[in-house]
Amino acid sequence: MIQEDVLCSFCGCLCDDITVDVEDDQIKRVRHACRLGASKIMGHERIKSPMIRENGELKEVGYQEAYDRAAQILLEAKKPLLYGWASTVCEAQKVGILLAEEVGGVLDTTATVCHGPSVIGIEEKGLPGATLGQVKNRADTIVFWGCNPAEAHPRHSLRYSSNVCGKFTPEGRSGRKIIVVDVRQTRTAKNADMSVLIQPGCDYEVISALRMLVAGKGDLVPAVVGGISKEDLAKLAGMLKSAKFGAIFFGLGITHSRGRYKNIDNALSLVTELNAHTKFVIMPMRGHYNVAGIGQALAWSSGFPMSVDYTRGMPYFCPGETAACDVLARKDVDAALIIAADAASNFPRSTVEALSEIPVIQIDPYENPTTLLSEVVIPSAIAGVEAEGTAYRMDGLALRMKKLIGSSYPSDEEILTGILASIRKLRDSGKGA
Ligand code: SF4
Repeated sequence: MIQEDVLCSFCGCLCDDITVDVEDDQIKRVRHACRLGASKIMGHERIKSPMIRENGELKEVGYQEAYDRAAQILLEAKKPLLYGWASTVCEAQKVGILLAEEVGGVLDTTATVCHGPSVIGIEEKGLPGATLGQVKNRADTIVFWGCNPAEAHPRHSLRYSSNVCGKFTPEGRSGRKIIVVDVRQTRTAKNADMSVLIQPGCDYEVISALRMLVAGKGDLVPAVVGGISKEDLAKLAGMLKSAKFGAIFFGLGITHSRGRYKNIDNALSLVTELNAHTKFVIMPMRGHYNVAGIGQALAWSSGFPMSVDYTRGMPYFCPGETAACDVLARKDVDAALIIAADAASNFPRSTVEALSEIPVIQIDPYENPTTLLSEVVIPSAIAGVEAEGTAYRMDGLALRMKKLIGSSYPSDEEILTGILASIRKLRDSGKGA
């Protein structure tokens, strides 16, 4: 059977034009996806069975036993951390939020170590945004700032930005101006009309200089800013102002350089000011396919987009205090549930060491370094391949992902519902805290 219009559950582009050949309930071939997406959909070596650590060794157990042990860990904890959520669907995220409320934990997402500063900047300033479809059909000037989609979002340029032909951009690449601002020559920069190599940590200064030039106050700009001459900055400001429809895509190169969320705040101001001259929009290049979705699900249910602390009986949000790395660095959490993420690979060393000192429950289709420090490991179906659900693309568009093949593994939603049922059963029997 050929499945068409399949969504790729790898990166924030959520490409929805993938064709998958299925035979005997197995995926045989993936067409139209990039290599990253095809390898995700084809799958690889999985965790075979739920496991519980006994005497230092992980031993295979049944799902119910794993749910009961996970429930016991979460109930015995004074303040558990529930972290990850970026590579699963909103239906699972919704149950996870309920679980965090029920056990009085801290729920944080992978945004905390990637686009967290963007989320905070956008909360403060608002987002002059657009859909990727609008960019495809209208944008004649595109800036990639601190991001490298040629390697991290391989089909972005072909489907939504630099190289695609749209309704009002029929010439595709030749009708567009592409500008790349980064601290190094990336593969994306090779496709640019103008590559601006700035000094590391100078994004804020360069954006401020562009704001002055756009506002007609170029006489206040020094001869060189962030390693870029005033002439080049003036040329760049002129290209931005002369766009009919401009779009800035930004990545971790700007969110994690000196200035952090203030860089984003400044970039949002630049785009707001460019709108006095022409139409301009801005968008973060979200990494995991549904990291935008957990931000949405948390925002509708708690009012906050990440790092939500439920230990006070109501949602509390204070990045710098309630983010996953903050609570781990302070050793303020005494258990962790890690789902659809690999904290051990992505967190700073001291926080991984803190994680290794507390009981960890892992829910994931695949083994990864977090498995090595987990006390309970629960394998799940791959969302978007073996389980259906909703995901939000990087531009905030909600899309429905199909189930392509059957699976003996339960979905993330079913696993979290099972753990929640075990918690309620233990509480009702008087064994829970
Ligand atoms: Fe999948 Fe992203 Fe590649 Fe599209 S660009 S096929 S969503 S990995």
